[in-house]
Amino acid sequence: MVELTWRTVAPGVFVRRHEELNLNCGLVVGDERALVVDTRSYHELGTELLAAVREVTDLELVVVNSHAHYDHCFGNSAFRDSQIYAHTGCVAELVRTGEHQRQQVLEHLLATDRPELAEQIGRTQIVLPHYLIEQDTELDLGGRTVELLYSGRGHTDHDLAVAVPDAGVVFAADLVEEGADPMMEDAFPQEWAATLHALMAKPAAELADVWVPGHGAVVDRAFVEQQTAQLAQLAERFTEVVDGGLAGVDALVSACRGLGLQDQTLRDAAVRALELRR
Ligand SMILES: [Zn+2]
Repeated sequence: MVELTWRTVAPGVFVRRHEELNLNCGLVVGDERALVVDTRSYHELGTELLAAVREVTDLELVVVNSHAHYDHCFGNSAFRDSQIYAHTGCVAELVRTGEHQRQQVLEHLLATDRPELAEQIGRTQIVLPHYLIEQDTELDLGGRTVELLYSGRGHTDHDLAVAVPDAGVVFAADLVEEGADPMMEDAFPQEWAATLHALMAKPAAELADVWVPGHGAVVDRAFVEQQTAQLAQLAERFTEVVDGGLAGVDALVSACRGLGLQDQTLRDAAVRALELRR
């Protein structure tokens, strides 16, 4: 059972973990503004998140979308009075796949007998982020600075992490996953580990020991290092198999058994890796 409250992970830095998808949203409170990390799956859930934010702070809000997957940004419509930041690739992806994502979720909700939720996501207007960045960017919240960090391709081609250097916290979004395997459908399996290495080495993140994944429990740096090593091994074995001339999905999957990842994850990663070679 997931508690629906803000958990304080550092002074003025909060995580709210939601039962639905085990999704984490973040809140960082400065002296003049507060930053919200990710907005949930549809308008009503965004509105509920906004109400929870308002229980903590009345300050002007700035929002970051970590990436274009619906569960992190379809709640934007509840935050349309705020500046919404994202990587330029996030907007491109939402324009390209937003309606398709909506359709897929809608069908899933109907198939699992949740017509009310299907209707809510069907009605939700997809609000695009409008403050777009391509490189690391500092945001001054008054008395504290947060950094939006782009470290390369991984879970998607546009994942933004949010570092709070004065608190030693990084919101890593779906670049880090706890309680489930990393999601490979839109991923860059052979680049992901290098991206995490780059992120961990950035000055704003190098001392951080509180890492907030997009889904699941808050973890420490050792966990992130371990997940990075797992992804590095996956990349290494994929390269070996491909160099050996055996580049089929089954060959890639069996080369990676024993890394602690589920077969379905390996299969998704293999399909993606082969797709990206074309
Ligand atoms: Zn995602």
